[in-house]
Amino acid sequence: PIIPDYLAEVLRDVESDTSGEPAGYIPELAAADPERLGAAFAMIDGEVYGAGDIDIEFTIQSISKPFIYALALSDRGFDPVLAKVGVEPSGEAFNEISLESDTGRPLNPMINAGAITVHSLAGAEDLNPTERVERVLHGLSAFAGRRLKMDEAVCASEMEHAHRNLAIAHMLRSHNVLTKDARAIVDGYTRQCSVLVTTRDLAMMAATLANRGINPLSGEQVVPEPVVRQVLSVMFSCGMYDAAGDWATQVGIPAKSGVAGGLIGALPGQIGIATFSPRLDTHGNSVRGVSLFERFSSDMGLHVMEVP
Ligand code: GLN
Repeated sequence: PIIPDYLAEVLRDVESDTSGEPAGYIPELAAADPERLGAAFAMIDGEVYGAGDIDIEFTIQSISKPFIYALALSDRGFDPVLAKVGVEPSGEAFNEISLESDTGRPLNPMINAGAITVHSLAGAEDLNPTERVERVLHGLSAFAGRRLKMDEAVCASEMEHAHRNLAIAHMLRSHNVLTKDARAIVDGYTRQCSVLVTTRDLAMMAATLANRGINPLSGEQVVPEPVVRQVLSVMFSCGMYDAAGDWATQVGIPAKSGVAGGLIGALPGQIGIATFSPRLDTHGNSVRGVSLFERFSSDMGLHVMEVP
């Protein structure tokens, strides 16, 4: 088996790197086993290749952001979403309280300010907070091709320490970017971040983006093709926060990281890739995940700016 052997070999090469720390600001995440390591490739025909801990569940965290952005764009249309959230890289940390000075609009949907706003735009406008969370969970499940659940302990743990996201939400509410109860929206966003996925799920979710929005397992068109183009473009420019420029030049794959240690990349028409390793660098990106993607990109010539 050429691909699993290759994946196992690359995992062995990065295994000894124990630098970085699991996310500390969510106590439940700090308790995660930092030695976990996995990588999976999902082809657009539904075939999955993996090595390491690819069936261990962990919370999706910020990797939910591009998918909920996709749902909002498809549920509400482009104009109402773009009126509230921009598409410019912020060059700042994921939890920066950064809003456009005149409009209060978050710079992009990948930082928390943008993602909290995008959560409020998922589903029809008149949904109550519980129904909105249900729309989000249903949508993430459609991207994964199986019914996903939430980790209530991680969610409660994050909510107890969510002062910064609450501050961001109240700023957004004061600018009327958010138009409903700020606390309820942060609660819903935190639930969104607490959805449990495996590395295999994440690879399949990325493959759905790579496959024009069609889940390779179910055949369902989860979101329309123009939405996928928008989402992948924003992932390319903003998905790795203040490391997005390094990532674009070194790896060159539209990507998104999460603070539980997950990382996805999607190559249009080709493949969805996911890795899992909980120790994070100073940007909040998985240390060994970034190394794995650097290897995949150079070994297989996956940089999108390179002629295949
Ligand atoms: N739930 C986390 C937060 O809002 C997600 C952050 C992340 O994964 N980068 O802080």
